[in-house]
Amino acid sequence: MTIELRSAPLVEQELEKLTSKCELLKSKGVTPSMKVILVGQIKASVIYTKNKKKFCERFGADCEIINLDESINEQDFVDAVKKISENKSVHGCFVQLPLPSHLSHIDPGALIDPNKDVDGFHEHNIGELFKGDPKSKFLMPCTPQGVLGTLNYYNFPVEGKNIVIIGRSLIVGKPLALLLLNNNATVTVCHSRTTDLKEHTKRADIIISAVGKPRFLTADYLNENGKQVLVDVGINHDENGKLCGDLDYENLLGRCQAITPVPGGVGPLTILSLAQNLLQAAENSL
Ligand code: NDP
Repeated sequence: MTIELRSAPLVEQELEKLTSKCELLKSKGVTPSMKVILVGQIKASVIYTKNKKKFCERFGADCEIINLDESINEQDFVDAVKKISENKSVHGCFVQLPLPSHLSHIDPGALIDPNKDVDGFHEHNIGELFKGDPKSKFLMPCTPQGVLGTLNYYNFPVEGKNIVIIGRSLIVGKPLALLLLNNNATVTVCHSRTTDLKEHTKRADIIISAVGKPRFLTADYLNENGKQVLVDVGINHDENGKLCGDLDYENLLGRCQAITPVPGGVGPLTILSLAQNLLQAAENSL
């Protein structure tokens, strides 16, 4: 039988920890405060930012969505982000992606103080991840942190495991590879130019897909032992507009040891990691 790796129990468990950590910070005179910078009104981005705000409020942090006009020019956008980041009462901030096309060449992570970069995209934080010092209190990229959190919570330690990641983006694949490597996994990163992807996925103990194609990973990519663990980072819509991941979920059940669903898998953990980074940033500010 395949175990479903749902995020809800992990989120509930971590919410308790976040609440007591937040109370402790407040008792020291610090109310964790986050600013979310949203440019325009893309429907999905509006929903994502509202969910992030609601989540922060559940454990007692302040969170404000700052909505900039879609037509804002580059200089005004850069100035606005820097001003928010420089505000001493703000502990964490990030820009909700995607940006409108006239701003899409900007790396918003680079505009934000690395100590407040709750997305973990700033070069400083990526550099710390690259170095892999376990004592460093840097802010880690959220989705990779969520993937590792799921595997640990469900008792699938990554140490010594052969892990295949499909996807090499800056926000998922590459930082995830470093994080897993730092946790003593043996990591293979595959991408669109990988020859014979199946050869790689069949010998993996854990497969993590971050491709962005509906039901891309079918049973053909698995081996026959039924012990592989599958993590789906993809958030896609199929031809009928239905939300789905990269994994052909229904047809993989029963063929693997464990699998994350979409929705209800990795997605909510990205928000959890953002919250954990906010409290880490607030703690670091003491
Ligand atoms: P990108 O489009 O930036 O990267 C996709 C990666 O998949 C690329 O590295 C690409 O290779 C690779 N790829 C594409 N086609 C193939 C193929 N046929 N075989 C092997 N590799 C292939 O996407 P993101 O990393 O930003 O996002 C990936 C998915 O994860 C999306 O569905 C996104 O919505 C979701 N996502 C979910 C999050 C969450 O919170 N759960 C957070 C962030 C993203 P190449 O580099 O060669 O082009």
